Amino acid sequence: MKPTLSLIIPCYNEEESIQETHRRVTKVMEDLAFPYEVVYVNDGSRDGTAELLNAIQAEDKAVRLIHFAANRGHQVAVTAGLDYAQGEAAVILDADLQDPPEVIPEMVQKWQEGYQVVYGQRRSRQGESKFKLWTASAYYKLMQKLVGKNFHRDTGDFRLVDRRVVDAIKQMPEHARYLRGMFSWIGFKQAPVLYDRDKRFAGETHYPLKKMLKLAIDGIISFSDKPLFIPILLGILLGGVSGIGLLALLVRLILGLQSGLWWLAAWVTMLFALLFMVIGIEGRYIDRIYREVQGRPLYFVAETRGFDTPSEEK
Ligand code: UDP
Ligand code: MG
Repeated sequence: MKPTLSLIIPCYNEEESIQETHRRVTKVMEDLAFPYEVVYVNDGSRDGTAELLNAIQAEDKAVRLIHFAANRGHQVAVTAGLDYAQGEAAVILDADLQDPPEVIPEMVQKWQEGYQVVYGQRRSRQGESKFKLWTASAYYKLMQKLVGKNFHRDTGDFRLVDRRVVDAIKQMPEHARYLRGMFSWIGFKQAPVLYDRDKRFAGETHYPLKKMLKLAIDGIISFSDKPLFIPILLGILLGGVSGIGLLALLVRLILGLQSGLWWLAAWVTMLFALLFMVIGIEGRYIDRIYREVQGRPLYFVAETRGFDTPSEEK
């Protein structure tokens, strides 16, 4: 039987959590009584994760397993899960039980009400540093400005997505993957489910500051061309300053006053202003090239009506 729900669980060095995760996920899914599959993506783990997953798979018909040949990162692991998932809807959750599987039934209910993206929104976060909370909050605000209103605060990758959304994401071949941005950008009917984000069940985060920063910057570059306007603005600003300076120097000249090196300063500023503007204009073209290379589809269809009805029928 084709599974109705696919759970996608990326795992990197999760030997301490994976069995408990599987136990809790299975419990929730059995209570839900839907045909389901659990797709584990082993993202090139170096510990005992692979063996544990093989053992889990050998005993449970609902388990599908993808072993990566090397570590490719969380976002790529989830992408592989979406590629292989067969369900009518997919739920993405972490292997460390920070996204509690017990929230899934509520997500499924929203899905059955007709929502195509049901995203988990954190009501609270356990065991995360003040620094992480603060940077996260500032970043979400920035991204809402850049990506748009669909970019939801306190929302990670934990979400349920309808088959149509999975197929839409599969049409986005970009290499710099920032899934939460992609899920926001594509649109569709979206609804939140609030949850309390738990502490990591065991082990350490695999998202140290450096990786977090890379992901954050990827998000901005993939979804916004606004940074490319900075040189144009700088150019206009500098041009204004140097214009005022040149005018003042002209007045001094008419009054017969000597200004010496100030002329040089004003002209150099003007040249820099022009240079910034030229760079800014080039930026517009680079943005064009980038959008074309990303190769995203022009549109996604959320629903069609009437195409199956023969128009000749009387
Ligand atoms: N993960 C992965 N590949 C990586 C890093 C992480 O598949 O290179 C998985 C990890 O096993 C977990 C999820 O992605 O299931 C989230 O990672 P983590 O918990 O380390 O990040 P955090 O929750 O601290 O942001
Ligand atoms: Mg985690």
